[in-house]
Amino acid sequence: MNILWFQRDLRLVDHAPLQAAIDAEQPLMLVYCYEPLVLNEGHFNSRHGRFIMESLQNLTRTLKESGLVLHVFRNDFLAVLRKIHRRYGVDTIFSYREKGLRAIEQRNQEIEAFCQEQEIQWQASEPLEILPERVTDWKRFWRKEMQKTIHYPELSRIKPVSLSIGFIDQLSVIDSPDQFYIPDFHFQRGGPDQAQEWLTSFLKIRAVQYLEADNNPYLSRYNASRLSPYIAWGNVSVRQIYQSCQQAIKEGFYPKALKDFLDHLYRHDYILFTTHQGYACDQDRPDAAPDEERQQLFERWKRGNSGVPLVDAAMRCLLETGYLIPRLRQLLLSVLKQRLPEFESEGLCWLAQHSLDFEPRLFYYYVSQPIHQRKFLNPVLESQRMPACIHFLRIWLPELVNLPPRFLHEPWRLKKAEQKRYSVWLGSSYPIAPKAWIPRIRKQQKKLVV
Ligand SMILES: Cc1cc2nc3c(=O)[nH]c(=O)nc-3n(C[C@H](O)[C@H](O)[C@H](O)COP(=O)(O)OP(=O)(O)OC[C@H]3O[C@@H](n4cnc5c(N)ncnc54)[C@H](O)[C@@H]3O)c2cc1C
Repeated sequence: MNILWFQRDLRLVDHAPLQAAIDAEQPLMLVYCYEPLVLNEGHFNSRHGRFIMESLQNLTRTLKESGLVLHVFRNDFLAVLRKIHRRYGVDTIFSYREKGLRAIEQRNQEIEAFCQEQEIQWQASEPLEILPERVTDWKRFWRKEMQKTIHYPELSRIKPVSLSIGFIDQLSVIDSPDQFYIPDFHFQRGGPDQAQEWLTSFLKIRAVQYLEADNNPYLSRYNASRLSPYIAWGNVSVRQIYQSCQQAIKEGFYPKALKDFLDHLYRHDYILFTTHQGYACDQDRPDAAPDEERQQLFERWKRGNSGVPLVDAAMRCLLETGYLIPRLRQLLLSVLKQRLPEFESEGLCWLAQHSLDFEPRLFYYYVSQPIHQRKFLNPVLESQRMPACIHFLRIWLPELVNLPPRFLHEPWRLKKAEQKRYSVWLGSSYPIAPKAWIPRIRKQQKKLVV
C-alpha cells in the first residue's frame, strides 16, 4: 500500500503528491502526524496546533463525503511508518518536502535512511517543479509556474485501506490534541474553506484599501489580505491565489492594488525558494545567566509592558491576534537584537511561537538581514510616521486612551500635573520606559537620533 503524508500542505486542491498518489492507483492511506518532535520544538505554540486541528477537521469533512478517512496520529511519522510497514508493507510515501528547521531536516534524513534500508520509495515533491538554483530569470519562471493547470483531485479514484481499529489505536503515543483549544475569537481559523473565504473577501471587497493598508497597522487588520497563515500551513497554494487574483483583475476588481498584492506573493516565493536554511532556537545561548533586572526587562518586552507605546502595542497585538504588519515585526526584532541581545535566541522563539503564520525560512530570512546587526529602529519616529498609528496605539493600550497624540507617542514626557489630568500614572498605570530605549533628541537638528 501507499501513504499520502500531509505536513504543511493541509489542502486537497493543487496538491501534487496527492495527485501522484491517486494516479498510482494503489490502496492509499491518508496520514497526518502531530509529531512530538515538532510540538516540543522551540518555535511551536498551541495557536499553531489549533490552526492545524481546524484544518484537519475541514479536510476530514471533505474526505468523508467521498467515504474516505484521514488518519491523524499523535506520534512521530517515522515511528508510525515503521509500525505500518512491519504490519502491512509500504511501497511508496507521497508528500511535499518540509524545510527550514533543524529538527525537521534531521527527521527527513532519518526517514530517508529508513526508506532506503526498507526499499520504500519516498516521493518528496517540491512546490515548484524546477529547482530554482538553475533559474536565471526568476520572475519569468515564477509566472510560468503560477500559470500551470490546477489539479482538483478525483477523490472517488482513491482506493482506501482498512486497518484494524486495535492497530490504529497503537499508533498514537501522546494525549489528544484537545490541548490546542484556545477559547477566544481573535485568531484566524484554519482550513481550506476558511482560506477560500478570506481570499474571496479580499479580492472582491477588502482590497479596496490594500495600498493604503501597507505600513498602516490600523487598516491592515482588515484591508491586508491576511492570507499568510493559510499559505504557511498550506490551506491554499500560492498558485491558487495567483490564478484567482489574475481572474479578479480581468474582471475589473482593484487592478492597481491586486498587482501590488501579486508582487508580495512573488517576494514570498522568491525568499522561500532561494533561502535554504532556517535556524533553531537552541543556538548561541550566553554562558552567564543574565541578571535579574535584565531578565525582568525581557519579560516586559515579551508581555508588551516595556513602557514604549509602539513596542508594547505591537507585542500585545501579536500575542492577541498572531498577526503584525512587516514593519512592526521589524520593530520588535530591532528592540530585541539591539537592546536585549543576550535574549536573542529566546526572544526569536517567542516571536515565532506567537506568529500564527510562522514559516521558518521567511522568518529567519528577515532575522538575518544586516540592518538588524547595526541599527535600532527608532520607536518614537516609527510611531509618529506610521499612518493611523494613533488608532492602533489606542486600541492596544487602553490605559493611555485619554492621552493627546504628543504624549501618546512619548508618555515619559508627562509631568505630574499632566499625569493627573489624563489619569495616567507612570510607574503604576503604565510602565516607565527603560532609559536606553528612549531615543535622544538633538535639539539643533530637531531630529530624532539613535
Ligand atoms: C521579521 C519578519 C518576520 C516575518 N515572518 C514571517 C513568517 O514567519 N511568515 C510569513 O508568512 N511572513 C512573515 N513575514 C512577512 C510578512 O510580515 C507577512 O507575510 C505579512 O505581514 C502577512 O500579511 P498578509 O497576508 O496580510 O500580507 P499581504 O500584504 O496581503 O501579502 C500577501 C502575501 O504575500 C506574502 N508577503 C507579504 N509581505 C511579505 C514580505 N514582506 N516578505 C515575504 N512575503 C510577504 C505573504 O505570503 C502574504 O500572505 C515576516 C516579516 C518580517 C519583517
